[in-house]
Amino acid sequence: MFSFSSLKVRFARLPAMRTAIYPGSFDPLTNGHLDVIERAVKLFDRVVVAVATNESKQPMFTLEERLDLVRRSTRHLPNVEADSFDGLLVEYAERRSAQAVVRGLRAVSDFEFEFQLALMNRKLNERIETIFMMPKDTYTFLSSRIIKEIGRLGGDISSFVPTHVQAALKAKLA
Ligand code: ADP
Repeated sequence: MFSFSSLKVRFARLPAMRTAIYPGSFDPLTNGHLDVIERAVKLFDRVVVAVATNESKQPMFTLEERLDLVRRSTRHLPNVEADSFDGLLVEYAERRSAQAVVRGLRAVSDFEFEFQLALMNRKLNERIETIFMMPKDTYTFLSSRIIKEIGRLGGDISSFVPTHVQAALKAKLA
């Protein structure tokens, strides 16, 4: 027979929702970022792509444009959410009840900075783990910076970025 107490027991046994934050500038999102997101959704119930305001980096795309490109490029992934954040990443992760931060590792050159960042974040908040994901090998040389550079020089970027990003970059450079 149905009872509220049995329902309560059942809910108590349900594992908590696992949330990961994938932070970055995403100026703009590339297929390398997308590859990391697609890997992360297999491990977590929810992946929040957190677009950093990053005024110091003087991004080519506004925050709204970067968010919009992430949203449009991840429509096929129902457990992915795009959000923006400002300030300390671990505080943002705590606010979003996340257990982990996901970062992408392309090459050894990424390692030193990422290692430092992960250890500093752990010092700031022991509860948040950093998970590193390696993209498909064909994306290891990809970066937002290089995409913008090739775009500026009129090169073909169609196999490196989602179609929305390609169109947005073309419009921006026109
Ligand atoms: P930022 O450098 O401002 O953190 P990015 O948007 O460039 O932001 O990168 C966000 C994260 O995605 C970083 O962990 C970065 O190493 C990773 N990343 C960037 N490009 C790729 C790629 N091609 N493959 C895998 N990870 C990547």
